[in-house]
Amino acid sequence: MTCASLNESWAGGDWLKENLKIAEVLWVNSQESRVKPSSCSLEAGASLIETLQAIVLRPIPFQDGGLVVSFLTEHGERKAGIAKGAKKPSAKWVSAFEPLSLVRVGFFGKEQADLRRITRCELQHSPLTLGHLECNLVMACLADLFDRVAKEGVEDERLFRLLSACGRALKDHPERALNILAYAEHWLLHCMGLLPHPRVCGACGNATAPIVMLSEERGWRCAECTPMDPADALPTGVREHLRTLRTCSAEDAPETTHQAARTCTELLRSRLMKELGGELRSYEVMRRMVV
Ligand SMILES: [Zn+2]
Repeated sequence: MTCASLNESWAGGDWLKENLKIAEVLWVNSQESRVKPSSCSLEAGASLIETLQAIVLRPIPFQDGGLVVSFLTEHGERKAGIAKGAKKPSAKWVSAFEPLSLVRVGFFGKEQADLRRITRCELQHSPLTLGHLECNLVMACLADLFDRVAKEGVEDERLFRLLSACGRALKDHPERALNILAYAEHWLLHCMGLLPHPRVCGACGNATAPIVMLSEERGWRCAECTPMDPADALPTGVREHLRTLRTCSAEDAPETTHQAARTCTELLRSRLMKELGGELRSYEVMRRMVV
């Protein structure tokens, strides 16, 4: 599968239509905010140019060959802007809008507008490895994830540090893409406040007994206080795997193939998807393509 067809499948069908609708709504909102200057003071209505380091999340086709592009800024905030005519061959910046590219981006418009105009976008680093399908699928998943988790008007610098680290690790080790994705999911759950520390059992405080389950109320529970059918309990080694995830860098993210790591990855992924309201489109594509 080529990158072009990958992009098509990722951005195709109902998903695209849904996002185009969102883009239209945002466009209408932004137009409305521009035609009501009397509703805000001169200061509040002033247009500003803002230049930031940011990571590209999702480019969505927009009217007249333009793109609506979402970014994760260096402050860990989601910001979207419109790049007019970005798809035209004359546009110098089109290559900078690949998901997960680290860029220097300029926004122009009123600070409170939903969609500001992108005035410049210079590529600084791209994790893209041409022809590496697995790595490209993982990049789409990461872009999708951070696009959902990061919020407009909310800064969380940990998100930017995490995604930059994953981007660099993907560029250096595209063959470790699935490990890096599992690493990112683990830390995203942590940033969202949904991942209890695995050091001690959340129910009885035991620090050595094997972890057997993740419960909603008490977090990780151990074999000492929670008798379980061995067939339903988490496999031995989950605590050790979690410990490795907490202490290693993105490029040293542990393998996800052995039983404890695989079970742990599935558990954390399903927790994350539940929080985001269901499986993301990019994950569906990855599940179909990667056995
Ligand atoms: Zn316990």
